[in-house]
Amino acid sequence: MNTGNDVIISAALTGAVTPKDINEHIPLTPQEIAADAYRCWQQGAAVVHLHMRDKQGLGTMDRARFDETIRLLRDYQDCDVIINCTTSGDSRASDEDRMAHVSALDGIEMASWDAGSFNWMPGGVFINSPQFLGRLAEILTARGIKPEVEIFDSGMLGVASYFVEQGKLRAPLHYQFCLGVPGGMPATVENLLYLSQQIPANATWSAFGIGKHHLPMLYTALALGGHIRVGLEDNVYFSKGVKATNAQLVERAAQAIRLFGKQVATPAVARNILGLPPLPVSHKARAYAGH
Ligand code: ZN
Repeated sequence: MNTGNDVIISAALTGAVTPKDINEHIPLTPQEIAADAYRCWQQGAAVVHLHMRDKQGLGTMDRARFDETIRLLRDYQDCDVIINCTTSGDSRASDEDRMAHVSALDGIEMASWDAGSFNWMPGGVFINSPQFLGRLAEILTARGIKPEVEIFDSGMLGVASYFVEQGKLRAPLHYQFCLGVPGGMPATVENLLYLSQQIPANATWSAFGIGKHHLPMLYTALALGGHIRVGLEDNVYFSKGVKATNAQLVERAAQAIRLFGKQVATPAVARNILGLPPLPVSHKARAYAGH
């Protein structure tokens, strides 16, 4: 797909595990997450990727927390950012718990779909069974939620293709290349070039590198014509030893896009690129009803 000159910035605000001790700017409560998402939208993020935390700060798939956060975010009447929710926000959660929010809630436009399992070193096995992925694909497709197909290693591309052939995922897919996770594919220019060449011509893709690989992968993705993801889920530092905020990371990404000679995709443009419908009127109406 020719996405022209527009580059989508996704902001991954929270993640499942990083504690506030490491960076106090990580938003944890629904109120903090919605407010941070709004700030990131103001700086140019077209998509926000959301994880929830429980009262102890641990990752949770609690449906009520997703619902509350979505409502708080949609209450910002001027903010049309695309809401993308994780489906792997708690390694202890059952498959059913991981799908509870995308099965029932309104307002989720995208959701992560992690195309395989691997040893997420050194913590444990990141499990995404074929049975889970098939069921999740069916739910997302039936509810018009665009999967963000997360690829941690090249073999996962075949998993995604399998479910397209089965009719459970609908092409063109949107891939997120997640590089530099220990146990996954290293964050190198060669690996991102390779992955970007393996997907169908009409697919769209985005990429990020974990930690210190964040900026090299951001610039590589720009050079290769991809979209980009930033945020404290993937990287907690702005520069060596300097803690970042999500809004600062988005602001820098927007500057990099402009310096590169491209433009930052608005949410409306991003919906068009991703094949998403315009923001449903019901969401706006719900927001207005609150005022
Ligand atoms: Zn995530």
